[in-house]
Amino acid sequence: MIKVAKFGGSSVANATQFEKVKKIVDSDKSRKFIVTSACGKSDKEDNKVTDLLYVAHAHLKYKLSADDIFKLIEDKYYSIKEELNLKIDLNTEFDKIKSDIKKSNDVDYLVSRGEYLTALMLAEYLDAEFIDARDVFKFNYDGVINMELTGIALHNAINTDKKIVFPGFYGSMPDGKIKVMSRGGSDITGAILANIFDVDLYENFTDVSGILVCDPRIVDNPHRIKNITYNELREMSYMGANVLHDEAVFPARDKNIPINIKNTNDPENEGTMILESCDEVDKVEKPYAITGITGKKDFSVITCIKSHISSEVGSLKKILEVFEKYGISIESCPSSIDSVSVVVETEKIKEYLYEIVSKLKDELDCDDVHITEGISLIAVVGRAMVNKKGMSGKIFATLGENDINIKTISQGTDEICIVVGVETKDFEKAIRCIYNKFIV
Ligand code: ASP
Repeated sequence: MIKVAKFGGSSVANATQFEKVKKIVDSDKSRKFIVTSACGKSDKEDNKVTDLLYVAHAHLKYKLSADDIFKLIEDKYYSIKEELNLKIDLNTEFDKIKSDIKKSNDVDYLVSRGEYLTALMLAEYLDAEFIDARDVFKFNYDGVINMELTGIALHNAINTDKKIVFPGFYGSMPDGKIKVMSRGGSDITGAILANIFDVDLYENFTDVSGILVCDPRIVDNPHRIKNITYNELREMSYMGANVLHDEAVFPARDKNIPINIKNTNDPENEGTMILESCDEVDKVEKPYAITGITGKKDFSVITCIKSHISSEVGSLKKILEVFEKYGISIESCPSSIDSVSVVVETEKIKEYLYEIVSKLKDELDCDDVHITEGISLIAVVGRAMVNKKGMSGKIFATLGENDINIKTISQGTDEICIVVGVETKDFEKAIRCIYNKFIV
């Protein structure tokens, strides 16, 4: 059994967290490949190193001093070094970073230094080998990871029985320059390693004990999701649940590698297992009808009204083309005989709203175009809903019984996700009602 264990920023925020990581890594021989993010926040007042590095870069870009910001970063690393009695020569490391950015204030290089330094220190503390992500994670010029070259580089780089620590979040371009991934990218680093070494399990350690059925700021102590499919997770993340980087699913999924979301502060907790199929685990323990409830606020619904618009050949195409022209992606498109509505993010449309309305009127010769703002979408996700009769009826009835008006409804034929649009004032209440009906 071989595992990749990735630790997020809060897991390496200070010396105490480093100690917890060491206990976790040492307790299991199969945790061979370790990935770390840059040190995160120790508490609410603290800052993430990556955020500080971005701010430092912006200061330098405008010729402002970044000394105070560097001081915050240095203090963090020096205190971990001292508390853990590490030998790392941080003076030399910081001098090199400062002299490098004097030559070229390259944002990717600078922000990658958080992961680089954290991984160097963690490798020393774990008595593991350090491999610089720059040498092994290879991007194409289009910014996509080249899995073939990365695989070759990784297989060539590994010649030790020791555990190996990799900094997450960055790699290098074909010309050798450092390139960072999008924010939270260490999850992707872990998934790529999992894929390339075809490991048995990708453990993703964070500061929550797995994925929760819904946002704990909305429902007190919501249940933990024990098992979830990759598809369910995709639906949940698209609609706002924020646990794992979106792109981290694909490399693991390609090789059918389960991902286990775990808590560094509560490592005994089983967390959430993300699987291609939950058929086997569902035989052992029947899942709730609903796996998760999530949602996003601030949508607008633009409704074109015209007699028989739904049966008019080409009307939908004309409507969609208007939105395409403005580069606005459409969430869903509910319709009735005499109206077609388009649900879009308010933020994305606000600049062009009046132009779009007048174009729709012209192109479709509409009787009227209505705009409804302040809509929130709630996604009810669940593999157990597939082929289960009456699920949507129950969800709608629950909302109705609780005096919540449904503005839009959509469900794909795969039946794992039902999305309802409600007024934003009802958003939290609707989630609580659905949770109470189906989970508790
Ligand atoms: N440190 C980076 C960030 O804060 C990458 C990561 O944590 O995965 O986004």
